[in-house]
Amino acid sequence: MIDRILVTGGAGFLGSHLCERLVDDGHDVICLDNFFTSQKSNVAHLLGRPNFELIRHDITLPIHLEVDKIYNLACPAAPGHYQYNPIKTIKTSVLGSINMLGVAKRCGARILQASTSEVYGDPEEHPQTESYRGNVNPIGIRACYDEGKRVAETLFMDYHRSNRVDTRIVRIFNTYGPRMHPYDGRVVSNFIRQALAGQDITLFGDGSQTRSFCYRDDLVEAIIRMMDQDDFIGPVNIGNPDEFTIRELAEKVIAILGSPSKLVLAPLPEDDPTRRRPDITLAKEKLGWEPTVKLDDGLKQTIDWFQSINLDDYRPPTP
Ligand code: NAD
Ligand code: UDP
Repeated sequence: MIDRILVTGGAGFLGSHLCERLVDDGHDVICLDNFFTSQKSNVAHLLGRPNFELIRHDITLPIHLEVDKIYNLACPAAPGHYQYNPIKTIKTSVLGSINMLGVAKRCGARILQASTSEVYGDPEEHPQTESYRGNVNPIGIRACYDEGKRVAETLFMDYHRSNRVDTRIVRIFNTYGPRMHPYDGRVVSNFIRQALAGQDITLFGDGSQTRSFCYRDDLVEAIIRMMDQDDFIGPVNIGNPDEFTIRELAEKVIAILGSPSKLVLAPLPEDDPTRRRPDITLAKEKLGWEPTVKLDDGLKQTIDWFQSINLDDYRPPTP
């Protein structure tokens, strides 16, 4: 069946890949974005397709659209991006969710929220299951993102319970791949840029903190599966359970590139989570999904892409 699908944040890293897949699958896709952290070039190749439409709009403002499905991805995702204007970040998660839930309610559309592993904060439970309620510092510098996403989850559940809106929530763990913003300040993009330039690689803290990295193709497959099944509203963890220290990640990037870069230590940012790994039992059981791309393979694809772009085409985020 062909659906009319709205993807908010559709010009971003994950959104642009999702739009591409949905357009290829034959759906009528509306990509909505304010281009805060993205470039039009991410979706330029889709502009000539008859079933693709691009709207510049900010989801903190209402919009009237007729759609069958909504993927709500609009929100800056990298710490440097969401801390640039923290109040705007909260507005995007809270007002943006209310506006998009309003569209879903009026149209009877199904709506999926891109939530995050950050709802678990600096977790005391490891690995993290969906029933873990988290350890977020509500007044810290990451709170604009973490608490915004937590309120968004609450809104989704309340619209579901009170207004019978057909909601879905996915909690996305660190995801990487081609089209991630090269200057997003996140660990994968920093390390690749630094290694390509032969510069020092900056390990924040001592590099012993862990993350689990999911390749973008696995992620897109999971969120489409979550949207397209009828029985389970979530939340569900989507991520790769292979856990690496940040030092190990740096060593992998150096080894793949044969780079002369050295590892140097830099201060650990405030509230930086110590460990993060998803328990994906629920995703396996309910969606029949698990990641297929190993970190080395995904890193090679991502490095190839970094080598193919002109870094000068990417600007830092602007309001
Ligand atoms: P991204 O920054 O590349 O994409 C976000 C997009 O949203 C950008 O195109 C940006 O311009 C747009 N946007 C931001 N505020 C907006 C607003 N007010 N109105 C309209 N558009 C707006 O980030 P991404 O990695 O593609 O993340 C997509 C979603 O997935 C986000 O909601 C993010 O929180 C979530 N997520 C991502 C990761 C990850 O590792 N990439 C992890 C957890 C959750
Ligand atoms: N990090 C690092 N060097 C960098 C960028 C990040 O050591 O140049 C660390 C950061 O402190 C964190 C981890 O890498 O522990 C992942 O950071 P990122 O910003 O990618 O995402 P997070 O998972 O913290 O949201």
